[in-house]
Amino acid sequence: MFHKVLVANRSEIAVRVMRALRELGIRSVAIYSDVDANAIHTHYADEAYPLSGNHPKETYLNIKKIIDIAKNANVEAIHPGYGFLAENPSFAYACEKEGIVFIGPSSRAIELMGNKVVARQTMKRAGVPVVPGSDGEVKTLEEAKAIASEIGYPVLIKASAGGGGIGMQVVQKPEDLERAMEHTVATALSAFGDAGVFIEKYVTNPRHIEFQILADHFGNVIHLGERECTIQRRHQKILEESPSPVMTPELRRQMGEVAIRAAQAIQYVNAGTIEFIYSDGNFYFIEMNTRIQVEHPVTEMVTGIDLVKEQIRIAAGEPLSVRQEEVRMYGHAIECRINAEDPLNNFAPSPGKLLGYRSPGGVGVRVDSGVFTSYAIPPFYDPMISKLVVWGRNREEAIRRMQRALYEYIIVGPNTNIPFLKAVLANERFQRGEFTTHFVREESTLLRETARILLEEHPLQEKLQRIFRVDKKMAAAAAAAQAFLHHYENLSQGE
Ligand code: ADP
Ligand code: ADP
Ligand code: MG
Repeated sequence: MFHKVLVANRSEIAVRVMRALRELGIRSVAIYSDVDANAIHTHYADEAYPLSGNHPKETYLNIKKIIDIAKNANVEAIHPGYGFLAENPSFAYACEKEGIVFIGPSSRAIELMGNKVVARQTMKRAGVPVVPGSDGEVKTLEEAKAIASEIGYPVLIKASAGGGGIGMQVVQKPEDLERAMEHTVATALSAFGDAGVFIEKYVTNPRHIEFQILADHFGNVIHLGERECTIQRRHQKILEESPSPVMTPELRRQMGEVAIRAAQAIQYVNAGTIEFIYSDGNFYFIEMNTRIQVEHPVTEMVTGIDLVKEQIRIAAGEPLSVRQEEVRMYGHAIECRINAEDPLNNFAPSPGKLLGYRSPGGVGVRVDSGVFTSYAIPPFYDPMISKLVVWGRNREEAIRRMQRALYEYIIVGPNTNIPFLKAVLANERFQRGEFTTHFVREESTLLRETARILLEEHPLQEKLQRIFRVDKKMAAAAAAAQAFLHHYENLSQGE
């Protein structure tokens, strides 16, 4: 086993990885940008080294700086977390070259799965069902038109190098193809430095269901069941759960086998996720994420398996600690991503100081966070404050417990999406488990409910401000919620 590991990340995921290291008796090394000099991950680690600067490019994305620190600190391995360099094949390669273990798959596997077109082709060859679409990248408008009419509209134009839902365009009819192509090409070039695009059939009312897999260096590959990630906004996940409300033991066996086959097809090693689009009993591979995912805790809650510890053990050359037959899913887990953002202002990021903070607790509640009272959420990175995860014996208990935990959550200062999450959890369709990826857009009352919840909470917020001795004008927030409701009512009357 390793003695010392560097965590090339920040905030909640850096702390999450360091927790696993501590339990395994391994020394942890943090790296930090200027604004993170007093972040939790910096102080949690046994050693910490400055990156100097704040912009991701000069800090958490700077391969040279990170490798230099790793060498000077004499670490045996690096854990990349998610985001930043986690899916950057050059970083994994730089580690391999320096004799530092990258806690993740090989640079070759990252590269193969990092390009969605190559991933599709590889999976197709391995007998994994993929969404109907172009065989390779689409270079010309003529080619695009031919493929689109062959598979039938609507189609989806995607960036080969895409991620984070960036650049995707739905095209309903041939006349709109040219503009959408141009748009995705331009976005792909500026966001990923790669103009390659391809076409997929747009599955109209799908769910997003993904499978967690683990693979060691001895050829053992297992799956840990599914995560339902259908509740999304702009192709980005908001709330995740396990198991999926539509899962049956037979479907899980089928999808799990396909996920394992997908991993085996590329001799994948370490933790990974196979993402599927699911519709009416059919499922299709969309991509593989070659890293630990934001939503991994829901799998940990229902299986009892510490995914990050498994990642570290695998990277150290140990065999998987569980066999497929030993994996049991028990109860139900839900995760909410708690973000500093303003749901009533188009979810604009709301960075700034946490003037008062108290996280929920009690039976079945887990909070993964990198914050504390007086911590200022910097504007340079993700505005995620924490991940709130609950476990219950069944979905109904998990929902009630999440509602109870959200009720307990105290955040004074930045705006958060908590009122919006409360509106989602109270929604009848959500409670029945009957939703598709269009849920947020279709449920037009969610924002009105959010505004109503905000107004209802206003006296409590004022009280909290007095308790935390915060001198901030709350009247503006209440007025904004009120104005939103008025506007909404006028709109409804006009219908
Ligand atoms: P997950 O299913 O783990 O949430 P995401 O695709 O949302 O997967 O990405 C995980 C992390 O990586 C998030 O913090 C997200 O902000 C970041 N991320 C993903 N893709 C991009 C991208 N193209 N540009 C910047 N950040 C990204
Ligand atoms: P990213 O790398 O940006 O995460 P994905 O291919 O995983 O890209 O797609 C992100 C989301 O977009 C999915 O979770 C799903 O909601 C939607 N999506 C992707 N492909 C399709 C498709 N073929 N049809 C319908 N929706 C899709
Ligand atoms: Mg995805």
